[in-house]
Amino acid sequence: MKAGLVYDPIYLEHDTGDHVENSRRLVEAISYLKETGIKEKLISLPARPASLEELEMIHAPEYISHVKSKAENGGGWLDPDTVMSPKSYEAALYAAGGLLVAVEGVMKKEVDNAFAIVRPPGHHAIRDRAMGFCIFNNVAIAARFALSKFSLNRILIADFDVHHGNGTQDAFYADPNVLYFSTHEYPYYPGTGAAKETGTGKGEGTTVNFPMAAGWGDEEYLRAFKEVLVPVARRFQPELILVSAGFDSHWADHLAMMTATITGFAQMALILKELAAELCQGRLVFTLEGGYNLRVVASSIKAIFDVLLGNSEIEDPLGKASVARKPEGFDEHIEAIKRTHHVS
Ligand SMILES: [Zn+2]
Repeated sequence: MKAGLVYDPIYLEHDTGDHVENSRRLVEAISYLKETGIKEKLISLPARPASLEELEMIHAPEYISHVKSKAENGGGWLDPDTVMSPKSYEAALYAAGGLLVAVEGVMKKEVDNAFAIVRPPGHHAIRDRAMGFCIFNNVAIAARFALSKFSLNRILIADFDVHHGNGTQDAFYADPNVLYFSTHEYPYYPGTGAAKETGTGKGEGTTVNFPMAAGWGDEEYLRAFKEVLVPVARRFQPELILVSAGFDSHWADHLAMMTATITGFAQMALILKELAAELCQGRLVFTLEGGYNLRVVASSIKAIFDVLLGNSEIEDPLGKASVARKPEGFDEHIEAIKRTHHVS
């Protein structure tokens, strides 16, 4: 398998100081890929900045110019969680553009699949506002880009970040061409993502939310994937699968309360890879969203590259949480979601 890696040092220039979403996340991840010998097995795809036209497929022109002028004026806070430095605008253009390069690489078969290791992340950013460490919605821009540039009709975005991708949901809530599937701790930031949010108008049914109770872990994530994501994806028949990969649902990530493991992330990635092979010629592109424990982020990215390369051995240096919580209520919960989305 030819797996593509998108990374650019400009991502480190988005200087957030001592914020949890900081450049060390990528520094450690890239050096771990080098240390473990995985990096040399990957095909590097050079990032590029997204054009204004590409950003405007998702974002309001006034918002884009607001971010640009904020950077020119030295940076500052875009919302209570999201801070910018003078280079953040450029980094954000390359984060969005990095994912476009990954999509192009996969669509043109230069690589079989790809993972864009970018920051700032994107899935909370909405049309005219930054939210939750996100400036531009990288995955949403990539989906629109793939629909128009490669004349696709159906794209699946799977989002297993611990937070709901409200920005991505928003962008495609009425759009039947993009199926958005999300697992996320709920209720939790940003507050959206209830199971009853299923899309609107022509997009009714193409938003699939799988809220998760605090404490649930691999077993529940994998059942959500196998019993809900797989059947809805088979029904939808995507031509490309994009993945918002966040590793903040790991037990050792203290931003949230879930108990997933690195092995669990690799198993989710394998389900997505098998779905892509079955439904869309293997076309699969991951992008980094959240994940704030540096060892978890580095090891999870490495584990996902192992899956993308077809390596069967997955290393999980952190193992399982020492205290497991009982998944009370999960059976009833998944049955209700299956009924909502008409899967048996
Ligand atoms: Zn997150």
